[in-house]
Amino acid sequence: MERARPIALITGASSGIGAAFADELATREHDLILVARRQDRLEALARALQETENVSVECMVADLTRDADVKRVADRVRGEERLEILVNNAGFGTTGFFFEADPAGQENMHRLHVLATVILTRAALGAMVQRNRGAIINVSSVAAFIPSGANVSYNSTKAWMNIFTESINLELRAADSPVRVQALCPGFTITEFHEKLGIDRTKIFPRSGFWMPAEKVVRDSLAGLQKGDWLVVPGWRYKLLVFALRHLPRLVREHAALVYSRKARGFVKSSGG
Ligand code: NAP
Repeated sequence: MERARPIALITGASSGIGAAFADELATREHDLILVARRQDRLEALARALQETENVSVECMVADLTRDADVKRVADRVRGEERLEILVNNAGFGTTGFFFEADPAGQENMHRLHVLATVILTRAALGAMVQRNRGAIINVSSVAAFIPSGANVSYNSTKAWMNIFTESINLELRAADSPVRVQALCPGFTITEFHEKLGIDRTKIFPRSGFWMPAEKVVRDSLAGLQKGDWLVVPGWRYKLLVFALRHLPRLVREHAALVYSRKARGFVKSSGG
């Protein structure tokens, strides 16, 4: 008997890396559940993929900083026997120093990057382990490896995501489960992320090769999943950077982070952020 088509649920699928995951997984014959707040964007993507890839696509409009919306998505996750891949991708950045930034924005970042990830991962993982199949991709960041000013909640929630994912990976290995989890740590990726922060992308390391298309990030992630890598850092430049950040002596790392934070302070003051 032919196996029913697998389903992938992707949060933050209305643009950027999430939309690229939707595209790529549709071409790999997954039906999709797309989650985000912008209904028009989700529905436009759903229509396009239904037409071009002939997959079934369900849209769930949800604000994952809200308890009721996270619960609704978690219930959908728990009830879906065909769920093969969960991508916890929804995220955003903020600007400014923590002690001056809008507290609500900081709290919402923890709700979205941490709490929603915990709840959706738990909703998916129990059944995946029982079924002996499935994978969860948590979209983290190279920022997880760098403590710095002006990014306090962002860097710390992404660092949490890495430890969370690595620890679940250990549990799965200890339990001899074939279920895979991955922390995907992209560097600068061409999406709407920086535009939403009012940052002109073309002024950050232009022509350096540090900017990656979202499609490459997604292909590297899925290739890593095949190999069973719990940590994926797309692009050789970022692999080198992460290696250096992990192996530099602590004092050197701390000094570099302080120099960066002082520069960021200057930027925050001059931009009135
Ligand atoms: P993006 O184009 O701005 O996409 C962010 C996605 O998250 C959108 O679909 C947005 O959808 C969704 N989202 C934001 N807040 C949400 C909420 N409260 N509830 C539900 N969905 C929400 O940026 P992106 O670069 O693709 O970001 C995707 C992930 O990659 C993030 O976790 C980000 O931290 C990570 N990342 C990005 C970069 C980069 O350079 N771009 C680098 C490293 C890591 P709606 O607005 O429609 O809700």
